Amino acid sequence: MSKSAAENGGNRVNGRLPAGLKPAVARVLERALEEREISADEAVRLFSASGRELQALLRVADELRRRAVGDVVTYVSVRNINFTNICYTGCRFCAFGRRLDDPDAQWLSLAEVADRAEQAWQAGATEVCMQGGLHPRMAGSHYRDLILAVKERVPQIHVHAFSPFEIWYGARRSGVSYADFLTALKEAGLGSLPGTAAEILDTEIRQQLTRSKLSAEQWVEIITTAHRMGIRTTATIMYGHVDGPRHWAEHIALLRDIQRDTGGFTEFVPLGFVHYNAPIFLDGLARPGPSVGENLRMHAVARLMLHGFIPNIQVSWVKLGPQLAQRCLQAGANDFGGTLMEETISLSAGADYGQHMRPREFRCLIRDIGRVPAQRNTLYELLRVYETRPAPAQPDAKPGAFESAFSRVRLRA
Ligand code: SF4
Repeated sequence: MSKSAAENGGNRVNGRLPAGLKPAVARVLERALEEREISADEAVRLFSASGRELQALLRVADELRRRAVGDVVTYVSVRNINFTNICYTGCRFCAFGRRLDDPDAQWLSLAEVADRAEQAWQAGATEVCMQGGLHPRMAGSHYRDLILAVKERVPQIHVHAFSPFEIWYGARRSGVSYADFLTALKEAGLGSLPGTAAEILDTEIRQQLTRSKLSAEQWVEIITTAHRMGIRTTATIMYGHVDGPRHWAEHIALLRDIQRDTGGFTEFVPLGFVHYNAPIFLDGLARPGPSVGENLRMHAVARLMLHGFIPNIQVSWVKLGPQLAQRCLQAGANDFGGTLMEETISLSAGADYGQHMRPREFRCLIRDIGRVPAQRNTLYELLRVYETRPAPAQPDAKPGAFESAFSRVRLRA
């Protein structure tokens, strides 16, 4: 057993709980092992588990992960393209947005975006993930133009793009409904949407985080509209700031209700708050992000609540770092996320785990916890399962391709 496996609670439960647990927690874990639904109230109880109860929670989550998706841990080769950081929304947790006259304000032309997509494809990426700030002078049609620019240059690449807030903005600037706006994007080649901008789907918390962002109801409306049009999305939560276990439990329960209705979520991605450069933290109004225990509980409770609904729980290695990401993969998660190649949103907030992870590094980290690495595409179809370890001298399929593409990006940035 690896060190981190031991720290995470050791052997599997294999359907049985250890003796001597507090009855209130044991009852919920028994229900989970019987694959029955966990209520938001029960989840709140699990979010405060510690000691033996916490170890049991992590083991039950690991068991449900094994039953749902087996021992494969997936990753996706993707390039993030943040096409602009110009934004006047003023979210108080955000250190990414810049004003038009800021010296480090950035606006990528359509040709530059297409260049980056082409470099990514040549380096082996199957997806580009495009998100940006809400530039005050940007036409609504620019979102469609971005997709067209990428697809004209690299028709085969999957375009995963635009948060529900960007969809809200683009539809409003274009004077059309969400459905009409999404139809235009889909016809241009949009593959799926990131379910970001969810933060915490609670009105009171959202008011503290950002006054002018879309409401929880609007987020749900845009996501369900996309799902009904056949556009899959991810689901996220941003936790560890002014929120608490009740908000987390109700947020995940709401995502479960949506999934019961539409089946459109591909994955759930817990995103811990990165506090270092966030205005709300610098003003003394927010906590310094989640603790290690909260990160583990979040992935584990999500696995229990979403079992039978959303099979994939992703770790955000950019926010957790590789070692804690491994521990979360032993506490209910099954996906390592993306190679990214350049990541500027968490980097701006002060995350220091880098902007890029090579596929080979993912595979080493996955094997290190005794699991089987596999490359997937955006919609979780497996592209290659690495059942056996390569011989030490065996190189990646495209030696150095990621490194060379990444260094080109760094030279330009
Ligand atoms: S989180 Fe997004 S919308 Fe909010 S200020 Fe930052 S870039 Fe703008």
